[in-house]
Amino acid sequence: MSSKTRDLSDGTGGAASKRPLLEVRDLVKHFKVGAGIVHAVDGVSFSIMKGETLGLVGESGCGKSTTGRALIRLIDATSGSVTYQDRDILALSKPEMTSMRKEMQIIFQDPFSSIDPRKTVGDTIGKPLYIHRVGTKREREDRVDHLMELVGLSARLYNKYPHELDGGRRQRVGIARALALSPSFIVCDEPVSALDVSIQAQILNLLEELQNTMKLTYLFVSHDLSVIKHLSNRVAVMYLGKIVELSPTLSLFKNTLHPYAQALLSAVPVAKLRRTRERIILTGGVPSPIHPPSGCRFHTRCHHKTPVCSEREPQLLDAGEGHFVACHLVHKV
Ligand code: SF4
Repeated sequence: MSSKTRDLSDGTGGAASKRPLLEVRDLVKHFKVGAGIVHAVDGVSFSIMKGETLGLVGESGCGKSTTGRALIRLIDATSGSVTYQDRDILALSKPEMTSMRKEMQIIFQDPFSSIDPRKTVGDTIGKPLYIHRVGTKREREDRVDHLMELVGLSARLYNKYPHELDGGRRQRVGIARALALSPSFIVCDEPVSALDVSIQAQILNLLEELQNTMKLTYLFVSHDLSVIKHLSNRVAVMYLGKIVELSPTLSLFKNTLHPYAQALLSAVPVAKLRRTRERIILTGGVPSPIHPPSGCRFHTRCHHKTPVCSEREPQLLDAGEGHFVACHLVHKV
């Protein structure tokens, strides 16, 4: 597995002078559950440059998948703004958003549950073309043939059903379907976490190749920092609905600043014969997102907390060269 941790010291994909392809500001998504409110995403801001991959990492339930889905409007955000190529995505009408779907796609974690078991491979990949009335039937079939070749699926699988494919091939169907309308931006929502390790590497390499040939921009959501490291130019670490650290990938791995990110990183295996990394074991479970802790949301599990941590919320501030962190320890108060 080749690593693609490009050193983008300005933290913007090397294109600081250009406008971002996607800009998210103060995105909030709350869910009502019984009498309570789940604070799934609570004021998340970031931007992604054209051709860049931003990795979004954190434990299960931290809000990373919800963020990805809210910004392409698979679910409705509670508040905030998402600007894509100067268009306010959250303000688009339904027909405008349907048209925008050609530009913004998603690859899901579990291809088996996101693919209709009654549809053949050809029909599944061609469905977005059919929905958006692209070309004639023959042209759509030709396009499906091309997409199958692009993602490494043999033409003989055209009339097969999902249950006849292994996990890797099913995910290739999911990727081909996401590419059908030639999008520019794709949310990759844990696209390899349901796959065997050997297949994971193949799918990651495929996503990397497709990005290079089709000039794609990714938001890559994963709980696995080693997967994130492979593909991402920058990484945002989420904890309980907030981004706690956002940095160029190399900078994050060389100089992890936030205690939560340090604990996550300590769980990533290091190559033998190289330096060893001390494992940081977090005590206590993740607090309920219905009643998130006051001040710094990580203070109930942080080994470095001080009295101010439970009183005042740390802001996500630049600690130098585009390496942002939300911690009172780093930005002394
Ligand atoms: Fe730990 Fe305090 Fe920093 Fe939060 S602000 S991560 S509790 S030191």
